[in-house]
Amino acid sequence: MTATDLATGSTGTAGEHALEAAGLRRRFPHPGGDVDVLRGVDLTVAAGELVTVAGRSGSGKSTLLAVLSGFDTGDAGSVRIVGEPVTADVPWQRCALLPQALGLVQELTAGENVALPLRLTDVPAAAVQARTTELLEALFVDGLADRYPPELSFGQQQRVALARALAPRPAVLIADEPTAHLDAGTAPAVLSQLRAHADQGGAVLVATHDDAVHALADRRLDLAHGVVARASLPR
Ligand code: ADP
Ligand code: MG
Repeated sequence: MTATDLATGSTGTAGEHALEAAGLRRRFPHPGGDVDVLRGVDLTVAAGELVTVAGRSGSGKSTLLAVLSGFDTGDAGSVRIVGEPVTADVPWQRCALLPQALGLVQELTAGENVALPLRLTDVPAAAVQARTTELLEALFVDGLADRYPPELSFGQQQRVALARALAPRPAVLIADEPTAHLDAGTAPAVLSQLRAHADQGGAVLVATHDDAVHALADRRLDLAHGVVARASLPR
């Protein structure tokens, strides 16, 4: 099996993949010379699979995740989410991104942020409340539901942002360094939510430096020089 086979999980059939990307390219202009951050990335993540992306700082992990989630259009290549081309306004139920900078709405409380993706759909109010409470409790931020993001630590905001991403049970969850600001007391809750989302049938892609996240993964991809340089064997 080649690294490309592993990166694309080619033992399965293409139709099973919740997330499929081919030939992704992204170049940023810089005064000293343009930087080719993505130079032809192919990857897939199947429903029920947790895949991690490793790579040194500046290797393009956040750029890749932004392109995969439709947040950035990239310069070339294709991304399909559950068989359909990704768009900038892909519904949260299909694809939710937890960005490195979190992206919480500053004018909404923690609880309102988590409820937001559900309020944009026709989920009944009681179910919105129940799901919001369930996630805030699971991530140990239930006592903070009425606080605004600037009143929370970065680690607390990170867990609120994960709760918001999980709230609509997205088919594809893409998380950028979701354990970067957590301590030993709160990291296990985040790890267990990521694994549980995959075990419940979600496709989960996580960029991370954290060995504890890689240890949970079904596959690990290494991003270097703009391509998936090495993909480790499935466990
Ligand atoms: P990582 O998440 O792996 O640390 P990033 O994807 O954030 O890496 O960045 C990869 C490279 O792309 C870096 O050299 C960074 O400076 C550059 N880069 C990222 N975003 C932009 C942008 N919007 N404009 C110009 N350069 C960018
Ligand atoms: Mg990054």
